[in-house]
Amino acid sequence: MQDEITIIGAGIGGLTLAAALEKKHIPFQLYEQANSFEALGYGIQVSPNIVRVLWALGLEKELENISHRCLGFELRSFNSDNILAKWQIDNKIPYYQCRRADLHQLLFDSIEDKNRIHFSQRLESFQQKDHKISLHWQNSQPTTTTALVAADGVRSQVRRSLFPGNKAQYAGYAAYRAILPFKDKYRPLWGKATVWMGENHHVVVYPNGNQENSTPWLNLVLVVKDANWNEQGWSIPADKQAVAQDFVNQSEELKEILEDMIASPEPCFKWGLFIHQPLPYWSQGKVTLLGDAAHPMLPFQAQGAAMAIEDAYVLAEYLGKEKEIEKAFIKYQQTRLKRATKVQQVSRNNADIFHASGVKALIRNFGLGLVSATVPNLLNQKTAWIYDYDILSN
Ligand SMILES: Cc1cc2nc3c(=O)[nH]c(=O)nc-3n(C[C@H](O)[C@H](O)[C@H](O)COP(=O)(O)OP(=O)(O)OC[C@H]3O[C@@H](n4cnc5c(N)ncnc54)[C@H](O)[C@@H]3O)c2cc1C
Repeated sequence: MQDEITIIGAGIGGLTLAAALEKKHIPFQLYEQANSFEALGYGIQVSPNIVRVLWALGLEKELENISHRCLGFELRSFNSDNILAKWQIDNKIPYYQCRRADLHQLLFDSIEDKNRIHFSQRLESFQQKDHKISLHWQNSQPTTTTALVAADGVRSQVRRSLFPGNKAQYAGYAAYRAILPFKDKYRPLWGKATVWMGENHHVVVYPNGNQENSTPWLNLVLVVKDANWNEQGWSIPADKQAVAQDFVNQSEELKEILEDMIASPEPCFKWGLFIHQPLPYWSQGKVTLLGDAAHPMLPFQAQGAAMAIEDAYVLAEYLGKEKEIEKAFIKYQQTRLKRATKVQQVSRNNADIFHASGVKALIRNFGLGLVSATVPNLLNQKTAWIYDYDILSN
């Protein structure tokens, strides 16, 4: 493939695609609307299915250096300090947790030719005509390209233009993110991800960073059912006192974490979670979608960035193999659409499990306790299709 690929969006997906194309000597230009990277999003879980990809891009050591290794999961309820279920991850490939900004930086650093990355370039619209695509920018003259990959995130301009009827619906959940410097008293939370589940609430806590090479942090994601969301944006500062009041619980450990959150100088951010119906296709001629632009998902399986990274790897493979862009884009879509749509669906279903109330919650807690005490590996098997997936040989 000698045609130059235009990528819109230097997020996790766009940067992974650029890194993978560069390795194959496929020319690209990457355009990002922001004038620099923001340390948005705090922590991110990097599951084995994408650790494989990051290793294939030659980032094994670098990834280890920025990451905390998660060895298992622990589920608790808001009602006490009892553990409902716990299990060890059964996978030869590590499951990591790191700061999103560190992963972003690592991908950016891995791209050798930085002249191909252009900041402060916001795509406003595009037109596909006679095998050429014209690109209209917010602050510069129009340009043309032979292939367009939209990795422009959850509010993708390109998706809206291809599917004007695909509107997001508010999912009825508000999410909060906070981060605390890791203290000795959090040691019982090291080496795992801990989830506290309450009626209409859940809180996910995991360390990120690596004690030897970077400062470790404790990452908090707090999700609550909230029918009335009317604010837009990713990083609206939240009133931490009000957040803690929303998450009243009887677990001494969680109470202490929430008190620490209030006392900490680190801000807490909130955003609304939205549901997007799966798209019937992603590729149209010489234009395709990637990552959240193609399949925005609720964060309840922690796989949004993972799917973007898998997409990028597969797309680069087809662009390396196929002579025609259209063919590469169609094969990419055929390989990816079913899996990403299934993960999108599972992420949505998980909300009901985390937030169950009344009898449903009792049944959930009893079932989890029983399985974790008798056949804990069943809990690994349930997610094996996600985490054990070997994209390199599929
Ligand atoms: C609470 C929460 C927790 C999460 N936790 C995890 C997790 O643990 N693990 C995981 O795998 N995923 C997680 N995710 C999901 C993950 O953050 C996203 O799925 C992932 O960032 C998507 O990557 P992307 O490259 O598609 O989009 P993004 O990373 O959002 O990048 C899109 C980029 O495009 C740029 N852009 C947008 N429009 C334009 C334009 N018109 N012109 C130029 N540039 C443009 C943006 O500025 C941005 O840089 C979580 C999400 C949430 C909400």
